[in-house]
Amino acid sequence: MALYGAAAAVLSGLEAHQGSLKTLVYGSRFQNVRQLYALVCETQRYSAVLDSVIRSAGLLQAEKKLKPHLAKVLVYELLLGRGLRGGGRWKPVLSRHKARLQAEFARLKVKRCVSRNEDLLESGPGAGQGAKLPRFVRVNTLKTNLEDAVDYLKREGYVYQGRASGLDELRALQGKRFFLDSLLPELLVFPSGTDFHKHPLYQAGHLILQDKASCLPATLLAPPPGSHVIDACAAPGNKTSHLAALLKNQGKIFAFDLDAGRLATMATLLTRAGVSCCEIANKDFLSVSPSDPRYRQVQYILLDPSCSGSGMVSRQLEEPSAGSSSQERLQALAGFQRRALSHALSFPALQRLVYSTCSVCQEENEDVVRDVLQQIEGTFRLVHVLPPWPERGLSTFPEAEHCLRASPETTLTGGFFVAVLERAGGSSGSEPQALAEEPEPNVAPKKKKKRRRRPLTT
Ligand code: SAM
Repeated sequence: MALYGAAAAVLSGLEAHQGSLKTLVYGSRFQNVRQLYALVCETQRYSAVLDSVIRSAGLLQAEKKLKPHLAKVLVYELLLGRGLRGGGRWKPVLSRHKARLQAEFARLKVKRCVSRNEDLLESGPGAGQGAKLPRFVRVNTLKTNLEDAVDYLKREGYVYQGRASGLDELRALQGKRFFLDSLLPELLVFPSGTDFHKHPLYQAGHLILQDKASCLPATLLAPPPGSHVIDACAAPGNKTSHLAALLKNQGKIFAFDLDAGRLATMATLLTRAGVSCCEIANKDFLSVSPSDPRYRQVQYILLDPSCSGSGMVSRQLEEPSAGSSSQERLQALAGFQRRALSHALSFPALQRLVYSTCSVCQEENEDVVRDVLQQIEGTFRLVHVLPPWPERGLSTFPEAEHCLRASPETTLTGGFFVAVLERAGGSSGSEPQALAEEPEPNVAPKKKKKRRRRPLTT
């Protein structure tokens, strides 16, 4: 009962404006802060759904002593969580109402024409901005190609609309229609809530579910096939698999991460994606020696370090402090980010580096890049990438607008930051080849007899 009671007290405190979620959770003295935070967040997220089910089932009318906040937490656990574990004297009460609550929940789904619980969040009143973002899907060119993937989806009833002309078209996407992204190659865009988790192309690694903003780093690093690349903070590896696709599995990726658990997930993901050019090491990137002969050909580095995750709603739910902008925490993260960036720039053959975070805090983004550029005194410079991208770095120093920012409002993605640095006087200097005008896949004409490549063959 302690957990459910504590969660109800936090919900009630929030409603009475007694403090922020974090303050109330930490102030509750409940021992397992993470567990409490997650339960409150999830109950809040489904608040409108739970209210509706509790109302239709007549729970509060039937159980006059049950307080609304506690009812909401208990019903969340019963219908959407892990089932009631504990619950004290309310457990048998809720058990009596279980069948009715489940029936009302099922009825709500039918009414809103959804099958998954998450889709209730997007279908009902109060669906948030985050929930309306399109579903971006990267075609994994290690396993298939754009044309075959689009063709396969069309045969399933999806309606291909060609390359999107801009964000308004993506905002208006509905039903089975999908586009090719207007800026990034091999990126398909589906209506919000399109679920590919059980799709055979996803399960076979032909499609990667990856936000558009998170496709920017590898696309902008653009290592040519055959080159050597370091992915400094790599797990769980979506950007690594994107790099491998750009390399066409030719060359080498040295991928480092401190977290063994995340690396294990990454190994599975890379196998599924058909990546064969990557060496994974469970290692602190700061301890990787730039003078080690193994890295003497490394001309490209992707640095996507740990950050506050303040651009990512889902991370905030997992980690109580992830969304926090507490100065102390931000400074600690920014300290690591600066050290990692300076360290990366000390690799002797390095030509191009992409620094990215899923944070929207200036301290972790523009400030880190500015400080490190000042410190290395002209060896590297910021490159003005992707001119049509609508959101640029905050103008906190003269070249900051060379950087990219992303946000749900402006780019229909999660919050993100990207900076591209190049060795001053280096040879590449230009926009990556991948972003040059790329032909649309040859999928429009229905009559044309096409070579039948089976996208599911590995
Ligand atoms: N690039 C990854 C992707 O696209 O899937 C996401 C990386 S995540 C933002 C940051 C990662 O940095 C975490 O997996 C964390 O374990 C790792 N990390 C933190 N400090 C590190 C260090 N000193 N050396 C290597 N990895 C580190």
